[in-house]
Amino acid sequence: MNTNDRSDLSSKAPLSDSGKGPLSGKAALVTGGSRGIGAAIARRLAEAGADVALTYERSAGLATAVAGEIEAGGRRALAVRADSGDPGAVTGAVDRAAEAFGRLDILVNNVGLFPVGTVEDLGAEEFDRTVAVNVRAPYLAARAAARHMTDGGRIISIGSNIAGRTVFPGLTLYSLTKTALTGMTKGLARDLGPRGITANLVHPGPTNTDANPADPAHNPNADTIRGFTALGRYAEPDDIAAAVVYLAGDGGRYVTGASIEVDGGFTA
Ligand code: NDP
Repeated sequence: MNTNDRSDLSSKAPLSDSGKGPLSGKAALVTGGSRGIGAAIARRLAEAGADVALTYERSAGLATAVAGEIEAGGRRALAVRADSGDPGAVTGAVDRAAEAFGRLDILVNNVGLFPVGTVEDLGAEEFDRTVAVNVRAPYLAARAAARHMTDGGRIISIGSNIAGRTVFPGLTLYSLTKTALTGMTKGLARDLGPRGITANLVHPGPTNTDANPADPAHNPNADTIRGFTALGRYAEPDDIAAAVVYLAGDGGRYVTGASIEVDGGFTA
């Protein structure tokens, strides 16, 4: 974690009373909130009233911009550079968010690497890095967040439709890490349920982001992937964020240990 990052200055902004929403008074941390699905989740949680911290790895300018939008909407925001592959950075970001907001109610484990290559292609190095970012980081973030959370806490992780249906060769490593989140989520639900903290997993389907553009001009597989969905279209990041906001809110209070497909029927 780079504590000297200029984007951290956003945490100094005053809390406004405007924009009360269902998550008003709550504080959230979204990993990988500078772009794509994570940025949409950060914006929608803030729109619902939460103060939001977000992590990023490289895109300081984009992360600062998302934090600025959140502040412009009247909530507090904090952007923290924290490589999910670095255990100390992950734990540090969680503690930093809780310290900045004085509490932590919602953790969204969004960061996920998408290595493409068959079992013949990818070895120990890629395995270790992918497992560190996609599995170890969510586990450590949940562990750190649980120390700050009280009754009503929410841990929401972002899995993948590929955990349910691995449709192409070359996805073994990605698929195995996303499947691991199912076991983690069920375990967290049991470990933290007695404290009133829920843990759930959202499996997005193909979602129009830098990692998986819907435009065939930028992604030769886009039309094939679109064809696997029942709805015949990619998700936009907001489609995934809507499910996360639901789970984070009061309506999600009795949902725990669940895996929810928000995949346009990809796995139907
Ligand atoms: P993007 O590539 O669009 O965004 C990735 C985000 O994660 C960025 O904010 C990026 O920060 C951050 N990030 C990447 N690596 C690290 C790291 N090591 N440490 C900290 N932050 C990091 O991804 P998506 O929005 O498409 O994906 C988000 C999640 O959704 C992932 O878990 C992915 O597996 C899952 N998913 C996506 C699908 C899709 O079709 N898009 C389908 C199913 C699941 P920076 O900008 O600094 O690089």
